Amino acid sequence: MAFVNEHFLQLQGSYLFSEVARKVKAFEAAHPQVRLIRLGIGDVTRPLPQACIEAMCRAVRELADARTFHGYGPEQGYDFLIKAILKHDFEERGITLSPSEIFISDGAKSDLGNLTELFRQDNLVAITDPVYPVYVDSNVMCGRAGVAGADGLWSKVTYLPCTGENGFVPELPDHRVDLVYLCYPNNPTGTTLTREQLKKWVDYALDNDALILFDAAYEAFISEPDVPHSIYEIPGAEQVAIEVRSFSKTAGFTGVRCGYTVVPEKVTARTEDGRRVALNPLWNRRQCTKFNGTSYITQRGAEAIYTPEGRRQVEETIAYYKENARIMREGFREAGLTVYGGVNSPYLWLKAPEGMTSWEFFDHLLHEMNVVGTPGSGFGPSGEGYLRLTAFGQREDCLEAMERIRRKGFSSAGKSSL
Ligand SMILES: *Cc1c(COP(=O)(O)O)cnc(C)c1O
Repeated sequence: MAFVNEHFLQLQGSYLFSEVARKVKAFEAAHPQVRLIRLGIGDVTRPLPQACIEAMCRAVRELADARTFHGYGPEQGYDFLIKAILKHDFEERGITLSPSEIFISDGAKSDLGNLTELFRQDNLVAITDPVYPVYVDSNVMCGRAGVAGADGLWSKVTYLPCTGENGFVPELPDHRVDLVYLCYPNNPTGTTLTREQLKKWVDYALDNDALILFDAAYEAFISEPDVPHSIYEIPGAEQVAIEVRSFSKTAGFTGVRCGYTVVPEKVTARTEDGRRVALNPLWNRRQCTKFNGTSYITQRGAEAIYTPEGRRQVEETIAYYKENARIMREGFREAGLTVYGGVNSPYLWLKAPEGMTSWEFFDHLLHEMNVVGTPGSGFGPSGEGYLRLTAFGQREDCLEAMERIRRKGFSSAGKSSL
């Protein structure tokens, strides 16, 4: 008889996006003449950089010829891509890592989910709140989250609130935690930590023997100088942090699939009898056992991101999204709303007008402005009273949305006037 992993049965339904879809569908059915502007999209929309397309076409032709054919590659990724990553993502920022510390993958989500396998079930997990749902759900699946309360909160997970009140800077926990997920620039709030603020977390991990899982999927959007691009810019992080990167938001690879994870040789975890075990060989073993590498074509495409043309093309695309973000940030501010994020990130985090919940604000935008966002409460309890917009849409749509906001204003919204 096969017994199921019952932890899967504890998972909560993904209410957020299905409820958004349901409301949008109902609105469209009732108002077929209205053109909705979707600013909730979590996927990129610009095409791949030309340099990547050309590199991938060349790679396909190599596979078409027996003399240049490539079959299985190294599970850890090809040297050509690892070298480009080491040079441009790390050496240029003064960080020295070795090739054996980089593991190429099919994306950050798989790595973030799979990393949970390296840790015993009784580790205590801390997450910032609101948060990208993968961190919690992947720990629920291996029984590390405890039980969900009526409020949807997991009994064994430590939630670190990030709100306008604390400037979206999570406070250090006041009790033991073992694994801390940090995502900066943050999804969904679009906010970042400065070097000084991130250092507090690295020092915390060093002092308390905790491990940081650092998700830097939005690194390419950083524009302010005091925001670290990698956690390894902070001294000591190479002992206590695993960093996960993705080419998805950087270079439009959401459908191509490529990312990488850094597991420094110095990062260790404890055995029950007190020995220190390096995690790098364990992750290597895990990947070699369960993963057969990212495709050659994809890795040639990713390598091209680091060529001079590739870098220029990536910068152009990121600049397009960031200009969308700027237009929306200013448009909403002019309309009297408080807006966070959008400077080092494609995400804007809007404070709902006084007295409105996330869903009320969502409905107001949908019905009055015909604009679709994502209610912040869907990302965790501290997201209540906020709404997420993304800059991944078309320029014309952003401009049109701001025109609608200007025409209608928010003065009728909320309990007190703005
Ligand atoms: C989009 C995103 C990822 C990227 O995942 P991929 O699997 O590489 O596409 C990772 N983390 C966060 C927070 C994201 O928003």
